[in-house]
Amino acid sequence: MPWLDNFTNEWNAIISRAVLVLNSEALPAVQPSRYRLSTQHALVMQQQEHLSRRPNIVLINCDDVGYGDLGCYGSQKNKTPALDRMAAEGLKFTSFYQASPWCSPSRAALLTGCYPPRIGFTEFDGMPVLFPGDRWGLASSEVTIARALSERGYATQAIGKWHCGDQPDFLPTNHGFDHFFGLPYSNDMGRQVGEIQEGDRERIKTPPLPLMSDAEVLEQQPDQASLTARYVNEAVRFMRASRHRPFFLYLAHVYVHLPLYVQQRFTARSENGVYGAAVEAIDWATDVILQEIARLGLSNETIVIFTSDNGSLAVNGGSNAPLRGRKGTTWEGGMRVPCLLRWPGKVAAGVAVDTVASGIDLFPTLCQLAGITHRPTPEIDGLDLGDLIHGRSTNLMERPFLFFNRGDLEAIRVGEWKLHFSKSGNEQPLLFDLDRDPSESIDCFAEQPGVVARLSSIANLARSEFGDRRLALQGSAARPIGQVAQARTLTEFDPSHPYYVAEYDLADRG
Ligand code: MG
Repeated sequence: MPWLDNFTNEWNAIISRAVLVLNSEALPAVQPSRYRLSTQHALVMQQQEHLSRRPNIVLINCDDVGYGDLGCYGSQKNKTPALDRMAAEGLKFTSFYQASPWCSPSRAALLTGCYPPRIGFTEFDGMPVLFPGDRWGLASSEVTIARALSERGYATQAIGKWHCGDQPDFLPTNHGFDHFFGLPYSNDMGRQVGEIQEGDRERIKTPPLPLMSDAEVLEQQPDQASLTARYVNEAVRFMRASRHRPFFLYLAHVYVHLPLYVQQRFTARSENGVYGAAVEAIDWATDVILQEIARLGLSNETIVIFTSDNGSLAVNGGSNAPLRGRKGTTWEGGMRVPCLLRWPGKVAAGVAVDTVASGIDLFPTLCQLAGITHRPTPEIDGLDLGDLIHGRSTNLMERPFLFFNRGDLEAIRVGEWKLHFSKSGNEQPLLFDLDRDPSESIDCFAEQPGVVARLSSIANLARSEFGDRRLALQGSAARPIGQVAQARTLTEFDPSHPYYVAEYDLADRG
């Protein structure tokens, strides 16, 4: 059938643009850190003139901040003047999706440019995210943005939440980051008020929350209200120390994941409770970072990207408005998130971009902007957004975007149309016109059989690549997740240890 051929060709063309052939010369073997530092230094010396023209990259990734949580995305509750200014000075993406509605697969996808099933991030012993001491994580053979940039002489630092595996093989310092300061997983995966020491086998095993410096546990059960200020301090220190060479800073905030501990200076003025205070703390952090970049004279040489790993839980004052659904779902509210991109003098100011774009596009986009022509990865799914962010014409509007949840292909978007197949393992065929109906409220499935057939055929091609757990299909392109034979938690609960216990300790999780 001609239309099917057309769309098969379209899909293949898109896939072929995304397929990046492994270039062995471009990817030196992973070396012990001392050797890597010395080779980086040599590389900097050899290519100093060229490197000086490469942009610095600051990638800010929030946790569970929803589409409707920022002033520049319509929030009337949260005050976000720095982020609103950032939007006025750069691009505001209005159809930007992360590749999963859950933390671990979203972050692994963001860092590698791959849909989660391609890198084995589907389910983890029946759970949607990684937990302390799990034996899985991002495979050492996968190439992150940090590794690609590091091997080209960038200074790299991860600050904040990782959540791509807590075993030594999987930590940031084994994935291209020179340094790591932050939490290996979610901030509700430590000991909280209500933990009991007998009679609850799961809770008693919950290890104290580790705050890490590189691969070492620096503190157990840190004061979470202090974390954002400590992260900002570390970010400023890193940018100052790296100002004479290109740098990549990945700042993954603790907010607004539960439990929410926020400094009193933010809670005192919030008009949206502790949730609003957390959003406003993120805004403050962005302001400090942008001011520091300006103070260092690096504004025109630094790309700053602000986004979130998935939608809001939409409780406690959170909002995905006007989108339907929330974190953990493949409704728009689960995966369409805020995304701002600021690069003064290089990209337009105050422009809203409605073209479909995704976190998985950042890997090829940033590599291209950093002058990396041989992308060091066997195969990825993201597309280079270079033309889009520079305002040149692009056909990205028609690229298919896939909505995976725990390995199920639950929905697909092509152009204005989004076709749902299932929710939580149950078949749920629905079709929405997102241009006219971003809230996914008017089902067009019965009226648009041609659209349904067209999107279904593209989805079937995708299933052959990535598999579909609900349909028990294996994907031909799926690579195995990283796995270690013996896993252990980074910390162990010791009843006699004097852990930090806050008087305001919270029981919230999620
Ligand atoms: Mg999250």
